[in-house]
Amino acid sequence: MTDQSALRDEGSTRAWRELRAEVLEDAGHRCAYCGDPATHVDHRTPRSAGGTDSRRNLAASCARCNLGKGTGSRSRLKRGLRAALRP
Ligand SMILES: [Zn+2]
Repeated sequence: MTDQSALRDEGSTRAWRELRAEVLEDAGHRCAYCGDPATHVDHRTPRSAGGTDSRRNLAASCARCNLGKGTGSRSRLKRGLRAALRP
């Protein structure tokens, strides 16, 4: 089990928060998958599959699409972390 990259990457670093805000703004706060209001930013290609944090690999996403992709333990981990980060 190597969950450390998810812990690091989903953390609330300043750079990530800024990038995330930019992606949401660019997308007009619309989910790239279903068009609902977006509050999350999703990695189109997961880092575990070689994806990066570059803007091109990021997509605005609603909570349902971002957390409901069925990636098993990874999405469960993400859900827990996001809940923890919520104000
Ligand atoms: Zn959606």
